[in-house]
Amino acid sequence: METKIFGTDDSLVAEAGRIIARGGLVAFPTETVYGLGGSAFCAESVRKIYAAKGRPSDNPLIVHIADIAELEPLTAEISDSARALINAFMPGPFTIILKKSGKIPNEVTAGMDTVAIRFPENETARRLIKAAGVPVAAPSANISGKPSPTKVQHVIDDMTGRIDAIIDGGDCAVGVESTIVDASREVPVLLRPGGITYEMIREIAPDTVVDPNILQSLKADERPLCPGMKYKHYAPDAEVTVIEGDMGAVKAEIDKRLAENADKICGVLTMSENCYDSAVILHGGITNREYAKNLFACLRKFDELGVQIVYAEFESRDGYGLAIRNRLYKSAAQRVIRV
Ligand code: AMP
Ligand code: MG
Repeated sequence: METKIFGTDDSLVAEAGRIIARGGLVAFPTETVYGLGGSAFCAESVRKIYAAKGRPSDNPLIVHIADIAELEPLTAEISDSARALINAFMPGPFTIILKKSGKIPNEVTAGMDTVAIRFPENETARRLIKAAGVPVAAPSANISGKPSPTKVQHVIDDMTGRIDAIIDGGDCAVGVESTIVDASREVPVLLRPGGITYEMIREIAPDTVVDPNILQSLKADERPLCPGMKYKHYAPDAEVTVIEGDMGAVKAEIDKRLAENADKICGVLTMSENCYDSAVILHGGITNREYAKNLFACLRKFDELGVQIVYAEFESRDGYGLAIRNRLYKSAAQRVIRV
């Protein structure tokens, strides 16, 4: 299949919308990461999304809308706290899980009785969804298991030949996927941390709890609230280890490990001004916000450079810390050293 690359002119976005309306797949920019979109009302499109990504079919998709009025018909029930969260954080890097209506095919929700809905802020995303004329089911536009795409080149690398078109909207501003809150139950549960922080959520819905699986791996027979938690995620080819703590102690630990692995190609992802000898150094950023924006791009870059072992510096500095930890720990398969 030939994959067309589109700019963001109205005529091209309109053409991309027609592709989705006809049952095709288009990758598009959002403020979080690039999405891989197909019609949420078309079971066949949704099956094609799973196939293009190699995504397990029991891992449901997020449905994207371009107007808050589109939300209600997709849902069966909206609690008061759900409504408050919707008013506070939509549009934005935020996904809400609600009881679904009959309009959503089972393929989208992997048979669950709830649906995840997001109203992106990114205006290209919104123009595309409007042009498609249907809600757009979209997971991140990466091959399943790989770091999510935050630059158009990442999408080109993963999706060329697998989908109809890619809209080039430049780099994604947030860089980690949307915050997900399950508001379909008595007490809201934070299932995935992101640009809307737990602190911000608690100001609107104070009883919201954090799913403990955000920062640990699942037990062998555990069934998570969020099916995606079961799967390998954000993993580059390199073996990643997170070294977390005060940056002085982090440097000493990484220096020691670099010396022990002198026969390998090592890399360090930094969030300080620390320098390291004989390692490929990529700088994530000093603030948590910058680090989040650059994290996936750096992980992909290490692979491109043939790095075998990555040490990722980390120190939680603000409300974004939880989102970074969640992605970093997963990309490191929970290899985390606290110093
Ligand atoms: P991605 O599509 O890559 O942004 O990932 C979406 C995440 O949302 C996955 O981890 C899914 O398992 C999760 N998800 C989507 N729909 C639901 C739902 N109805 N209930 C719980 N988790 C969901
Ligand atoms: Mg994903």
